[in-house]
Amino acid sequence: MPEAATPPAPAKRVLLAIPRGYCAGVDRAVQTVERALEHYGAPVYVRKQIVHNLYVVRSLEARGAIFVDETDEVPEGAIVVFSAHGVAPEVHTEAAGRGLRTIDATCPLVTKVHQEARRFAAEDYDIVLIGHEGHEEVVGTTGEAPEHIKLVDGPADVAEVEVRDPERVVWLSQTTLSVDETMETVAALQQRFPLLQSPPSDDICYATQNRQAAVKAIAPQAELFLVVGSANSSNSVRMVEVARAAGARQAHLIDSAADIRPEWLAGVTTVGLSSGASVPEVLVREVADWLAARGWSDLQEVTHTEERLTFALPQELRRDLKLAAKR
Ligand code: SF4
Repeated sequence: MPEAATPPAPAKRVLLAIPRGYCAGVDRAVQTVERALEHYGAPVYVRKQIVHNLYVVRSLEARGAIFVDETDEVPEGAIVVFSAHGVAPEVHTEAAGRGLRTIDATCPLVTKVHQEARRFAAEDYDIVLIGHEGHEEVVGTTGEAPEHIKLVDGPADVAEVEVRDPERVVWLSQTTLSVDETMETVAALQQRFPLLQSPPSDDICYATQNRQAAVKAIAPQAELFLVVGSANSSNSVRMVEVARAAGARQAHLIDSAADIRPEWLAGVTTVGLSSGASVPEVLVREVADWLAARGWSDLQEVTHTEERLTFALPQELRRDLKLAAKR
Protein backbone atom coordinates (compact mmCIF):
# COMPACT_ATOMS: atom_id res chain seq x y z
CA MET A 1 0.00 0.00 0.00
CA PRO A 2 1.39 3.44 -0.86
CA GLU A 3 2.09 5.56 2.21
CA ALA A 4 -0.37 8.43 2.77
CA ALA A 5 1.32 11.77 2.03
CA THR A 6 1.56 14.04 5.06
CA PRO A 7 -0.31 17.24 4.25
CA PRO A 8 1.98 20.30 4.22
CA ALA A 9 1.82 22.44 7.34
CA PRO A 10 -0.32 25.55 6.73
CA ALA A 11 1.83 28.58 5.94
CA LYS A 12 2.35 30.92 8.84
CA ARG A 13 1.07 34.29 7.84
CA VAL A 14 0.42 37.80 9.10
CA LEU A 15 -2.74 39.64 8.05
CA LEU A 16 -1.99 43.35 8.24
CA ALA A 17 -4.98 45.68 8.52
CA ILE A 18 -5.59 48.69 6.30
CA PRO A 19 -6.28 51.28 7.61
CA ARG A 20 -4.11 51.30 10.69
CA GLY A 21 -1.88 53.78 12.50
CA TYR A 22 -1.90 57.56 12.19
CA CYS A 23 -5.24 59.26 11.59
CA ALA A 24 -5.53 62.76 10.16
CA GLY A 25 -5.84 64.35 13.62
CA VAL A 26 -2.72 62.68 15.00
CA ASP A 27 -0.71 63.41 11.88
CA ARG A 28 -1.65 67.08 12.15
CA ALA A 29 -0.84 67.24 15.89
CA VAL A 30 2.59 65.65 15.49
CA GLN A 31 3.38 67.85 12.49
CA THR A 32 2.29 70.88 14.50
CA VAL A 33 4.94 70.25 17.15
CA GLU A 34 7.59 69.42 14.54
CA ARG A 35 6.88 72.56 12.51
CA ALA A 36 6.70 74.70 15.67
CA LEU A 37 10.13 73.42 16.75
CA GLU A 38 11.57 74.19 13.30
CA HIS A 39 10.00 77.63 13.12
CA TYR A 40 10.24 79.02 16.67
CA GLY A 41 13.16 76.87 17.87
CA ALA A 42 13.32 74.78 21.06
CA PRO A 43 11.89 74.64 23.56
CA VAL A 44 8.27 74.33 22.55
CA TYR A 45 6.01 73.35 25.44
CA VAL A 46 3.23 70.83 24.92
CA ARG A 47 0.36 70.43 27.38
CA LYS A 48 -0.19 66.68 28.00
CA GLN A 49 1.01 64.00 25.60
CA ILE A 50 0.46 65.47 22.14
CA VAL A 51 -0.95 62.06 21.17
CA HIS A 52 -1.17 58.97 23.38
CA ASN A 53 2.02 57.25 22.26
CA LEU A 54 5.23 57.17 24.24
CA TYR A 55 7.48 56.63 21.22
CA VAL A 56 6.11 59.81 19.61
CA VAL A 57 6.47 61.77 22.86
CA ARG A 58 10.09 60.64 23.37
CA SER A 59 10.99 61.44 19.73
CA LEU A 60 9.62 64.97 20.08
CA GLU A 61 11.34 65.43 23.44
CA ALA A 62 14.63 64.55 21.77
CA ARG A 63 14.00 67.43 19.34
CA GLY A 64 13.28 69.99 22.07
CA ALA A 65 9.63 69.62 23.02
CA ILE A 66 8.87 69.85 26.74
CA PHE A 67 5.73 68.05 27.88
CA VAL A 68 3.88 69.47 30.86
CA ASP A 69 0.68 68.56 32.66
CA GLU A 70 -0.70 72.05 33.08
CA THR A 71 -0.11 75.50 31.63
CA ASP A 72 1.17 76.83 35.00
CA GLU A 73 4.35 74.81 34.35
CA VAL A 74 5.03 76.85 31.18
CA PRO A 75 7.17 80.00 31.58
CA GLU A 76 5.28 83.22 30.91
CA GLY A 77 5.36 84.28 27.27
CA ALA A 78 6.48 80.83 26.01
CA ILE A 79 4.81 78.84 23.26
CA VAL A 80 2.51 76.00 24.28
CA VAL A 81 0.79 73.49 22.02
CA PHE A 82 -2.52 71.95 23.12
CA SER A 83 -2.83 68.25 22.35
CA ALA A 84 -5.07 66.50 19.81
CA HIS A 85 -7.52 65.51 22.57
CA GLY A 86 -8.72 69.06 23.14
CA VAL A 87 -8.93 71.28 26.22
CA ALA A 88 -11.69 72.85 28.28
CA PRO A 89 -12.29 76.59 27.73
CA GLU A 90 -10.79 77.37 31.16
CA VAL A 91 -7.40 76.10 29.91
CA HIS A 92 -7.48 78.71 27.13
CA THR A 93 -8.38 81.36 29.73
CA GLU A 94 -5.54 80.33 32.07
CA ALA A 95 -3.04 80.33 29.20
CA ALA A 96 -4.16 83.79 28.06
CA GLY A 97 -3.91 85.04 31.67
CA ARG A 98 -0.26 83.98 31.79
CA GLY A 99 0.56 85.54 28.44
CA LEU A 100 1.31 82.19 26.76
CA ARG A 101 1.40 81.93 22.99
CA THR A 102 -0.89 79.01 22.28
CA ILE A 103 -1.16 76.72 19.28
CA ASP A 104 -4.25 74.57 19.44
CA ALA A 105 -3.69 71.13 17.87
CA THR A 106 -7.09 69.84 18.99
CA CYS A 107 -8.35 67.46 16.30
CA PRO A 108 -11.10 69.19 14.28
CA LEU A 109 -13.32 66.14 14.93
CA VAL A 110 -12.99 66.70 18.68
CA THR A 111 -13.71 70.41 18.16
CA LYS A 112 -16.91 69.36 16.38
CA VAL A 113 -18.06 67.53 19.54
CA HIS A 114 -17.20 70.62 21.65
CA GLN A 115 -19.35 72.72 19.32
CA GLU A 116 -22.25 70.26 19.65
CA ALA A 117 -21.94 70.39 23.46
CA ARG A 118 -22.05 74.20 23.42
CA ARG A 119 -25.00 74.28 21.05
CA PHE A 120 -27.15 71.79 22.97
CA ALA A 121 -26.24 73.43 26.29
CA ALA A 122 -27.30 76.82 24.84
CA GLU A 123 -30.65 75.20 23.95
CA ASP A 124 -30.86 73.98 27.57
CA TYR A 125 -30.65 70.26 26.83
CA ASP A 126 -29.25 67.74 29.28
CA ILE A 127 -26.34 66.10 27.45
CA VAL A 128 -25.46 62.47 28.12
CA LEU A 129 -21.80 62.17 27.16
CA ILE A 130 -20.74 58.57 26.56
CA GLY A 131 -17.06 58.28 27.38
CA HIS A 132 -14.38 57.24 29.84
CA GLU A 133 -14.08 59.23 33.05
CA GLY A 134 -10.78 61.08 33.33
CA HIS A 135 -9.82 60.72 29.64
CA GLU A 136 -8.43 64.05 28.45
CA GLU A 137 -10.94 64.34 25.63
CA VAL A 138 -13.86 63.79 28.03
CA VAL A 139 -12.44 66.34 30.48
CA GLY A 140 -12.15 68.89 27.64
CA THR A 141 -15.65 68.27 26.25
CA THR A 142 -17.22 68.33 29.71
CA GLY A 143 -15.56 71.67 30.35
CA GLU A 144 -17.65 73.21 27.54
CA ALA A 145 -20.90 72.73 29.49
CA PRO A 146 -20.25 71.24 32.94
CA GLU A 147 -23.74 72.10 34.21
CA HIS A 148 -25.44 70.23 31.37
CA ILE A 149 -23.26 67.14 30.87
CA LYS A 150 -23.79 63.75 32.54
CA LEU A 151 -21.05 61.21 31.89
CA VAL A 152 -21.97 57.61 31.13
CA ASP A 153 -19.25 54.98 30.69
CA GLY A 154 -21.39 52.13 29.32
CA PRO A 155 -24.82 50.48 29.39
CA ALA A 156 -24.48 49.64 33.11
CA ASP A 157 -24.41 53.35 34.00
CA VAL A 158 -27.63 54.24 32.19
CA ALA A 159 -30.00 53.42 35.07
CA GLU A 160 -28.29 56.07 37.23
CA VAL A 161 -28.65 58.98 34.79
CA GLU A 162 -30.86 61.78 36.08
CA VAL A 163 -32.18 64.48 33.77
CA ARG A 164 -34.35 67.53 34.34
CA ASP A 165 -36.67 66.99 31.38
CA PRO A 166 -36.75 63.60 29.58
CA GLU A 167 -37.99 65.39 26.46
CA ARG A 168 -34.83 67.49 26.19
CA VAL A 169 -31.99 64.99 26.29
CA VAL A 170 -29.28 64.41 23.68
CA TRP A 171 -26.38 61.96 23.64
CA LEU A 172 -22.88 62.77 22.45
CA SER A 173 -19.75 60.64 22.70
CA GLN A 174 -16.00 60.51 22.94
CA THR A 175 -14.49 60.06 19.46
CA THR A 176 -12.54 56.87 20.19
CA LEU A 177 -15.08 54.44 21.65
CA SER A 178 -16.12 50.97 20.58
CA VAL A 179 -18.86 51.47 17.97
CA ASP A 180 -20.76 48.35 19.10
CA GLU A 181 -20.64 49.10 22.82
CA THR A 182 -21.69 52.69 22.23
CA MET A 183 -24.72 51.51 20.27
CA GLU A 184 -25.64 49.27 23.23
CA THR A 185 -25.40 52.27 25.55
CA VAL A 186 -27.52 54.35 23.19
CA ALA A 187 -30.14 51.59 23.01
CA ALA A 188 -30.30 51.50 26.82
CA LEU A 189 -30.62 55.30 26.91
CA GLN A 190 -33.43 55.17 24.34
CA GLN A 191 -35.29 52.70 26.56
CA ARG A 192 -35.14 55.19 29.40
CA PHE A 193 -35.65 58.35 27.33
CA PRO A 194 -37.73 57.54 24.22
CA LEU A 195 -37.36 61.11 22.93
CA LEU A 196 -33.56 61.01 23.20
CA GLN A 197 -31.90 63.02 20.43
CA SER A 198 -28.82 61.84 18.57
CA PRO A 199 -25.85 63.99 17.56
CA PRO A 200 -26.24 65.60 14.12
CA SER A 201 -23.43 63.35 12.80
CA ASP A 202 -21.31 60.50 14.23
CA ASP A 203 -19.10 61.55 17.14
CA ILE A 204 -17.06 58.35 16.98
CA CYS A 205 -14.65 59.49 14.32
CA TYR A 206 -14.02 57.95 10.91
CA ALA A 207 -10.54 56.72 11.96
CA THR A 208 -11.84 54.86 15.02
CA GLN A 209 -14.65 53.29 13.00
CA ASN A 210 -12.42 52.26 10.10
CA ARG A 211 -9.71 50.75 12.33
CA GLN A 212 -12.29 48.72 14.26
CA ALA A 213 -13.96 47.51 11.06
CA ALA A 214 -10.59 46.43 9.62
CA VAL A 215 -9.82 44.49 12.82
CA LYS A 216 -13.24 42.81 12.66
CA ALA A 217 -12.59 41.65 9.09
CA ILE A 218 -9.36 39.88 10.09
CA ALA A 219 -10.01 38.69 13.66
CA PRO A 220 -12.10 35.57 12.83
CA GLN A 221 -9.12 34.17 10.88
CA ALA A 222 -6.49 35.03 13.50
CA GLU A 223 -5.47 32.82 16.40
CA LEU A 224 -3.48 35.78 17.68
CA PHE A 225 -4.22 39.48 17.12
CA LEU A 226 -1.59 42.10 17.98
CA VAL A 227 -2.54 45.77 18.23
CA VAL A 228 0.40 48.14 18.47
CA GLY A 229 -0.52 51.01 20.77
CA SER A 230 -0.10 52.45 24.25
CA ALA A 231 -2.26 51.52 27.23
CA ASN A 232 -3.54 55.10 27.59
CA SER A 233 -4.68 55.20 23.95
CA SER A 234 -8.44 54.70 24.05
CA ASN A 235 -8.80 53.76 20.38
CA SER A 236 -5.97 51.19 20.62
CA VAL A 237 -7.48 49.51 23.69
CA ARG A 238 -10.88 49.37 21.96
CA MET A 239 -9.27 47.63 18.94
CA VAL A 240 -8.04 44.82 21.20
CA GLU A 241 -11.56 44.40 22.62
CA VAL A 242 -13.02 44.40 19.11
CA ALA A 243 -10.53 41.71 17.99
CA ARG A 244 -11.53 39.45 20.90
CA ALA A 245 -15.25 40.03 20.36
CA ALA A 246 -14.87 39.29 16.63
CA GLY A 247 -13.29 35.88 17.23
CA ALA A 248 -9.53 36.23 17.64
CA ARG A 249 -8.45 33.48 20.04
CA GLN A 250 -6.09 35.90 21.81
CA ALA A 251 -5.58 39.63 21.34
CA HIS A 252 -2.92 41.76 22.97
CA LEU A 253 -1.95 45.42 23.11
CA ILE A 254 1.79 45.94 22.68
CA ASP A 255 3.82 49.14 22.72
CA SER A 256 6.44 47.56 20.47
CA ALA A 257 7.89 44.23 19.34
CA ALA A 258 9.73 44.00 22.66
CA ASP A 259 6.39 43.31 24.41
CA ILE A 260 5.58 40.16 22.40
CA ARG A 261 5.75 37.01 24.54
CA PRO A 262 6.95 33.97 22.58
CA GLU A 263 4.37 31.74 24.32
CA TRP A 264 1.56 33.70 22.63
CA LEU A 265 2.69 32.17 19.32
CA ALA A 266 2.32 28.52 20.35
CA GLY A 267 0.00 26.78 17.85
CA VAL A 268 -0.60 30.01 15.91
CA THR A 269 -0.74 29.97 12.11
CA THR A 270 -2.34 33.35 11.41
CA VAL A 271 -1.46 36.55 13.27
CA GLY A 272 -3.65 39.62 12.80
CA LEU A 273 -1.76 42.89 13.08
CA SER A 274 -2.89 46.50 13.33
CA SER A 275 -2.08 49.70 15.21
CA GLY A 276 -3.94 52.47 16.96
CA ALA A 277 -4.45 55.94 15.51
CA SER A 278 -1.49 57.41 17.41
CA VAL A 279 1.10 54.82 16.36
CA PRO A 280 3.88 55.52 13.85
CA GLU A 281 4.31 52.92 11.10
CA VAL A 282 7.91 52.17 12.10
CA LEU A 283 6.64 50.32 15.19
CA VAL A 284 4.33 48.11 13.10
CA ARG A 285 7.17 47.31 10.69
CA GLU A 286 9.36 46.25 13.63
CA VAL A 287 6.62 43.85 14.77
CA ALA A 288 6.25 42.45 11.24
CA ASP A 289 10.05 41.96 11.06
CA TRP A 290 10.07 40.25 14.49
CA LEU A 291 7.37 37.84 13.32
CA ALA A 292 9.06 37.24 9.95
CA ALA A 293 12.31 36.32 11.71
CA ARG A 294 10.39 33.60 13.58
CA GLY A 295 8.63 32.08 10.55
CA TRP A 296 5.59 34.32 10.03
CA SER A 297 7.06 35.74 6.84
CA ASP A 298 3.98 35.68 4.59
CA LEU A 299 2.68 39.23 5.08
CA GLN A 300 -0.68 39.95 3.47
CA GLU A 301 -2.40 43.33 3.64
CA VAL A 302 -6.18 43.23 4.10
CA THR A 303 -7.86 46.45 3.02
CA HIS A 304 -11.10 47.57 4.56
CA THR A 305 -10.99 51.25 3.52
CA GLU A 306 -8.47 53.59 1.93
CA GLU A 307 -8.29 56.83 3.94
CA ARG A 308 -7.44 60.11 2.27
CA LEU A 309 -8.53 62.73 4.82
CA THR A 310 -5.95 65.32 5.90
CA PHE A 311 -6.30 68.41 8.10
CA ALA A 312 -4.54 71.76 7.66
CA LEU A 313 -2.15 72.84 10.43
CA PRO A 314 -3.65 75.05 13.18
CA GLN A 315 -4.35 78.53 11.84
CA GLU A 316 -2.07 80.35 14.35
CA LEU A 317 0.90 78.28 13.12
CA ARG A 318 -0.05 78.63 9.44
CA ARG A 319 -0.24 82.42 9.91
CA ASP A 320 3.29 82.59 11.40
CA LEU A 321 4.72 80.26 8.74
CA LYS A 322 3.14 82.38 6.02
CA LEU A 323 4.50 85.62 7.47
CA ALA A 324 7.99 84.09 7.69
CA ALA A 325 7.79 82.93 4.05
CA LYS A 326 7.06 86.53 2.94
CA ARG A 327 10.13 87.97 4.66
FE1 SF4 B 1 -9.19 63.00 15.45
FE2 SF4 B 1 -10.28 60.57 15.41
FE3 SF4 B 1 -7.69 60.85 15.21
FE4 SF4 B 1 -8.89 61.39 17.54
S1 SF4 B 1 -8.74 59.40 16.53
S2 SF4 B 1 -7.28 62.60 16.57
S3 SF4 B 1 -10.81 62.28 16.77
S4 SF4 B 1 -9.20 61.60 13.71
